[in-house]
Amino acid sequence: MILPAELIRRKRDGQPLAADELSELILGYTRGDIPDYQLAAFCMAVYFRGLNGAETFALTDAMIRSGETIALGPAVGRTVVDKHSTGGVGDKTSLAVGPIVAACGVPFGKMSGRGLGHTGGTLDKLESIPGFRIELGTDEFVAQVRDVGLAIIGQSANLVPADKLLYGLRDVTATVDNVSLIAASIMSKKIAAGADAIVLDVKVGDGAFMKSVDDARELAQLMIDLGRHAGCNVACLLTDMDQPLGHAVGNALEIRETIATLRGEGPRDFEELVLGAAGHLLAISDLGIEERAARDRAASAIADGSAHAMYERWIAAQGGDPSEGALPTAPVVRDVLAGGDGFIQAIGAVDVGLAALRLGAGRRTKDDAIDHSVGIRCLKKRGDAVAAGDVIAEVHARDDAAANEGAKDVLAAYRLADEAPPATPIILETIA
Ligand code: URA
Repeated sequence: MILPAELIRRKRDGQPLAADELSELILGYTRGDIPDYQLAAFCMAVYFRGLNGAETFALTDAMIRSGETIALGPAVGRTVVDKHSTGGVGDKTSLAVGPIVAACGVPFGKMSGRGLGHTGGTLDKLESIPGFRIELGTDEFVAQVRDVGLAIIGQSANLVPADKLLYGLRDVTATVDNVSLIAASIMSKKIAAGADAIVLDVKVGDGAFMKSVDDARELAQLMIDLGRHAGCNVACLLTDMDQPLGHAVGNALEIRETIATLRGEGPRDFEELVLGAAGHLLAISDLGIEERAARDRAASAIADGSAHAMYERWIAAQGGDPSEGALPTAPVVRDVLAGGDGFIQAIGAVDVGLAALRLGAGRRTKDDAIDHSVGIRCLKKRGDAVAAGDVIAEVHARDDAAANEGAKDVLAAYRLADEAPPATPIILETIA
């Protein structure tokens, strides 16, 4: 029988904890036997003292054992792949990567979360599609991955219940941004959801949890190790989140941009990331092809229309209307004009994410309703030349007052300079 206060004290003093102690702490908390305030103190001790490799493995393992697990590969009879991002602004990558990979003949099964704070969530984006069902039972989920080749659903209630409780607690106690806690949270869910090969998109920069490439590298390596320990093949991309990804930020707007990208008409940075992630996934799937050939195959799936056809098939299979015309549109669209001549030096990703949230595209608290139609399109991106009066962005709002406020917020997020900033690729580094 552990004494939680004793474990908190030892961690506070920088001492390591044994695997069975961490296991009892996490499982006791999930059962409701250990109160929130003790886990909150524990997370803060971890925030300052960190966890070593063995402790992070033990924490992840205990979190997985707090609920049910799915063995997707054996159930589908193939290597099933998944893709996950650590969270960003305008990040709709999974929505395009899933259909591309499935169109190339590789089953893709993913459980997703909702947005909170300045970052968007894949489920919220999917819910802007009329009729789309994010809640499938485990059997239905497995059957759709097997029969259609693609399913993206909400995380089942029984999958890693420890993370649901812990993430909520960390969110309100300033203990989210710790490498070990993030790695255990993400990888426990990925391993429990049962994919055999995963590409993790670790965001770096202003709009991400990881502000520096060094921190992102550490997180990536830890997640790769946790995946391998569980028999799962993991590759990590470190990608730029110093500006919003693509043009669109906001739920239905991001679905439109996904459809455009699957037709070969997407923004350059977004298409680059989508092809990079899809290429890596195909290369670690059971197709047995090299990354270069895999990327070419992903590009062909866009060019020959099969990726877009797969998108339509997938959305319809989950009850949604895949036509673009079915998506909600905001009543007011306001242009944001450049205030002077120059080059776009920076677009604050957090600022744009929060501006979209204030328009109604995101939530301040977990229970807020969101407006799927509203958001922002950042038409000019870092490095683009602009002249005073050029349209740099669009604000899609529910009324004039919200549009005016949104336009002010977006203008403040753009920084102009006399010279173009150095070009930064969207994929900064790959770790496999
Ligand atoms: N995403 C997660 O699922 N968990 C974290 O801790 C951070 C990002």
